[in-house]
Amino acid sequence: DRTVHQIAAGEVVERPASVVKELVENSLDADANRISVAVESGGTEGVRVRDDGVGMDRDDVQVAVEEHTTSKIADIEDLEAGVGTLGFRGEALHTIGAVSRLTVRSKPRGGDAGTELRVEGGEVTGVSPAGCPEGTVVEVDDLFFNTPARRKFLKTTATEFDHVNTVVTQYALANPDVAISLEHDDREVFATEGRGSLESTVLSVYGREVAESMIRVDHEPDSEPVAAVTGLASHPETTRSGRDYLSTFVNDRYVTARVLREAVLDAYGGQLATDRYPFAVLFVDVPPETVDVNVHPRKMEVRFDDESGVKTAVQSAVESALLEEGL
Ligand code: ADP
Ligand code: MG
Repeated sequence: DRTVHQIAAGEVVERPASVVKELVENSLDADANRISVAVESGGTEGVRVRDDGVGMDRDDVQVAVEEHTTSKIADIEDLEAGVGTLGFRGEALHTIGAVSRLTVRSKPRGGDAGTELRVEGGEVTGVSPAGCPEGTVVEVDDLFFNTPARRKFLKTTATEFDHVNTVVTQYALANPDVAISLEHDDREVFATEGRGSLESTVLSVYGREVAESMIRVDHEPDSEPVAAVTGLASHPETTRSGRDYLSTFVNDRYVTARVLREAVLDAYGGQLATDRYPFAVLFVDVPPETVDVNVHPRKMEVRFDDESGVKTAVQSAVESALLEEGL
């Protein structure tokens, strides 16, 4: 049922940044060493993700855009129940194809033939041989062209691009051994080298001033740790106003959690000027059974069993890093 598919797609694909997230995740799953993301008008006109991963042959490409779970979704209630439990694993390309003009071009590593497949609003409109390098290029044009109500929810180009930039930045920071680049309207925003160090990745993403102000966070707690905390945090004078540049990864997954944000800001205490925010890239490792990552399948929120223990661990890790610098 077409309507249900479009609703389902709207739940999964909220905005261009959600498309980018799914495509970059697929490229990482495909063992890519290089991933280039290019978007047009904040991603509302076009998103292109190119990788040098394992690629797909003609059959793989066709299967990739098919619907995988036999949809028993009868109405929005069922749909929401489904979103809350299973999520839409294996459905990203299919659902993106339902609400856009999707082109997938791919060639397997070591293969001799490439394939191009096109989908428009959920209909496969063509499959043909294509000359292309090994790896995969996915292009998503005219997102929500067939769901005008959804399209109306899109914000300005600047806002949509901000979301895209946040997503690609997080994946770049979390995968220093993959060269990840971002282009907006044909201008390069950043490109990491994939050399494997967090420092060089931060340099590529945030620039020299920020990279040079970064302080190593490497907490060795004396007692039984609730969380092990490592990463980088900026000197309290290297800040930005308005929004924060705090990237937190729990067990290597990018997450947002108010408790982590507060822990970092509290660690700086009175050292920050009003409305100024530091940069931080922190990896927080906790025993998996002590964190709930399924608060919302498409958002990046998590909940910890021991919120105050995690907060103390993160805050004291950053505090002791600052202290060692005499701050
Ligand atoms: P999922 O990632 O959950 O399996 P997707 O809809 O995102 O579901 O992708 C469907 C399938 O298409 C993947 O399982 C993978 O086999 C294939 N695929 C998608 N993107 C790529 C890519 N960039 N490189 C290689 N294979 C891909
Ligand atoms: Mg996927």
